[in-house]
Amino acid sequence: MNEPATRLNLLDLPAHEWREATSAAGLEPYRGDQLATWVFRQGVFDFGAMTNLPVVMRERLSELFVVEPPTIGQRFVSADHSRRYLLQVADEEFVEAVYMPNDSRATLCISSQVGCRFACTFCQTGRLKLQRSLSSGEIVGQVLRLLADAETAPTRTNVVFMGQGEPLDNVAAVIAAVRSFQDERGPAWSWRRITVSTVGLVPEIRELAALGAQRPRLAISLNATTDAVRSELMPINRKYPIEELLGALRDIEWRRREKVTFEYVLLHGVNDSPEDARRLGRLVRGLPAKVNLIPWNPIATMDYRRPSPEAIERFRREALETGIDVLVRYSRGADIGAACGQLQATNSAG
Ligand code: SF4
Repeated sequence: MNEPATRLNLLDLPAHEWREATSAAGLEPYRGDQLATWVFRQGVFDFGAMTNLPVVMRERLSELFVVEPPTIGQRFVSADHSRRYLLQVADEEFVEAVYMPNDSRATLCISSQVGCRFACTFCQTGRLKLQRSLSSGEIVGQVLRLLADAETAPTRTNVVFMGQGEPLDNVAAVIAAVRSFQDERGPAWSWRRITVSTVGLVPEIRELAALGAQRPRLAISLNATTDAVRSELMPINRKYPIEELLGALRDIEWRRREKVTFEYVLLHGVNDSPEDARRLGRLVRGLPAKVNLIPWNPIATMDYRRPSPEAIERFRREALETGIDVLVRYSRGADIGAACGQLQATNSAG
């Protein structure tokens, strides 16, 4: 962060390339693997603490490289034990990440940009405007920082790109980060454990699809069943309307047991009618889809309202009757501003 630009942040490279980086620095290639083990398996980022490397080598490494995940600005702990982090990526720049434990496992929600340019009307982050896109190292670093801060290492880690920013608006860095997560010498996570959520940027969805077996899971932020309402809620719909988006999804070769997730934030009087529920069923039928209904998480400065529990249940049943796989998901961490749509890099608890 405040270091001279000449030192390469190794997190910007997938772990298998660390061999080349250390070779270029005149060290044996296997030293790159040792470094990766320290960083990805032990959560150690300081070369000085890597005790199986000779002292002179540690000094040489510190001259050439850094392993610098974002630092923790603030941490908010929810009653449900999820933790929202304000992570510092540069002097005046913060992003948010959320750690959600679930028994021995954990799901980490990470950011891809500082702010966002898509201005979805129900989303707090959309009000921040885009400051900049994160590098792949800054994306990978969020995960490393949160894991290093966990009391016990989770037995299984899932990563979701659902924090600040539109991941596919920063598609090159997101793909590089996904590759880093999957790298055998790094965390070595399968595609099943990584989910990229998008508002529906069609060309970039096709770019992700071209990754083939390495493609992460996809989640689509749908939120409406007509172009009129969706364009109101999500201006990007004017560029990529619902049918075009669904067409891109129909072209994907889905893997065995894979499902594409559709996120649908339920807003009272906007998108929660029985007709919406039936249209939702018709739209996603034919795709290997599951639909998450997310009751709106109130944000003081917005006029939307959460539908009543009865209305939510009515909508769920109506959608279920169309034959689709549908669940109501209550966001975690709503009391600390960590729930869906609430992330905005605030330094208050909500
Ligand atoms: S929902 Fe996603 S794409 Fe839309 S404004 Fe919020 S962060 Fe941006």
